[in-house]
Amino acid sequence: MAGAPRNTKQKQAVYEALTCLDHPTATQVYEYVHVGHPTLSRGTVFRVLGGFAANGQVRRVTLEGSDARFDHTLAPHAHGMCRVCGRICDIFLPDYEAIAKDARTDGFEIDGCEVEFTGICKECSEKMRRGAKEEYKEKYDERTQGKQDA
Ligand SMILES: [Zn+2]
Ligand SMILES: [Zn+2]
Repeated sequence: MAGAPRNTKQKQAVYEALTCLDHPTATQVYEYVHVGHPTLSRGTVFRVLGGFAANGQVRRVTLEGSDARFDHTLAPHAHGMCRVCGRICDIFLPDYEAIAKDARTDGFEIDGCEVEFTGICKECSEKMRRGAKEEYKEKYDERTQGKQDA
């Protein structure tokens, strides 16, 4: 009985980390929790995460070329991974739940769905746009410079 409240506190700390971080890996959750709860071991954090995933409180997301991520957003959604910085963004599709409705599976029983889009996140595309503008400006300056010399 004595362990029960402490256990709840651990779960709360882990869940809070999940809501503050953006699709973190288990290690990122541990690092976040560790700051406020230095006595919580990595093993405990991983176990709590595993428990959350097993009972459906969080979604475990496995994407190409990345460690498993944990997602507290349970509404059905797909993910986009930025090919520049690797960040994972939520992508909400209107008919996501119905995606496999009329699927022909030849006996395969679908029990989950992971849709992954590739692309470039907002921050990276803004950075690239800015970079392109500067590059353009440099070329423009070079050109105008050249004309003045001639
Ligand atoms: Zn990015
Ligand atoms: Zn998500």
